[in-house]
Amino acid sequence: KAAIHRICSGQVILDLSSAVKELVENSLDAGASNVEVSLKEYGQEYFKVIDNGCGISPNNFQVLALKHHTSKIMDFPDLQSLTTFGFRGEALSSLCALGDLTIETRTENESVGTHLKYDHSGLVTSERKVARQVGTTVTVEKLFSPLPVRSKEFSRNIRREYGKLISLLNAYALIAKGVRFICTNTTGKNSVYIGRLEVEGFLSKPGFGCGRNMGDRQFFYINGRPVDMPKVSKLVNEVYRTSNSKQYPIVIMNFTVPAKAYDVNVTPDKRKVFLSDEGPLMLSLRETIEKIYSPSHC
Ligand code: ADP
Ligand code: MG
Repeated sequence: KAAIHRICSGQVILDLSSAVKELVENSLDAGASNVEVSLKEYGQEYFKVIDNGCGISPNNFQVLALKHHTSKIMDFPDLQSLTTFGFRGEALSSLCALGDLTIETRTENESVGTHLKYDHSGLVTSERKVARQVGTTVTVEKLFSPLPVRSKEFSRNIRREYGKLISLLNAYALIAKGVRFICTNTTGKNSVYIGRLEVEGFLSKPGFGCGRNMGDRQFFYINGRPVDMPKVSKLVNEVYRTSNSKQYPIVIMNFTVPAKAYDVNVTPDKRKVFLSDEGPLMLSLRETIEKIYSPSHC
């Protein structure tokens, strides 16, 4: 029976981002205004979603990870007035089957929180009191460990999975008004903060660029301090030159990033800055600049 459940669960949770997506949607359903996604080793060791939503009431502890348990519909007419993301009660039971699930939660009716551990079939294996704020933390360790093939695939594609997750979180961050999203990833070496990153500045229109010697026509800043960003420069040039191959764009760009997200100690003059986790950043930057230079925009 357990094996069948695992196969079915595999259909709901296909990869890291679909797993995290379910947890984030549960947090939004719970009315959270703060959603923090925290990963260890790109989600391979664990991923958790911490929220300040309504919390889970104790009478739900035993059943919430059982298949088809949901607190979000009461009876049939409710199906027509669904305003929540979830209602099938499949996410937590699937995650239980595919990894080690723990939940920490507290509602405003409780004075302390509860820490709960679940086994692969969705039953509570341990329960203890913990101090915590109102809200919920759901942790999944060792995702896909019961499915060796899927697990191998997961570690092989870890960087791509991670990139997919970051764009998913960006999508939620853009649309969920008034909700603060934070994502951190801790690897063997350091912890990387992927919170909000803002870029503002000026890019010249096609036809208003400069010649090959663009060194004094492109200016990059991080939090207002001048830096060299050869990779970003190369990217902007590439996009610009697809529409005007004779010129280079004039650029003034300031990146506002949280202090933890970058490392200024790469070169002795501290001008060459290394932004940790540039991959996802470069991707969304390219998309944005392509939009700016698309014919409808120019
Ligand atoms: P669904 O979202 O379809 O109801 P899930 O398996 O995703 O099913 O979640 C099961 C139940 O667990 C939810 O109906 C909800 O009551 C509770 N729950 C899960 N995550 C949270 C959360 N972050 N905050 C509050 N309640 C939660
Ligand atoms: Mg759900």
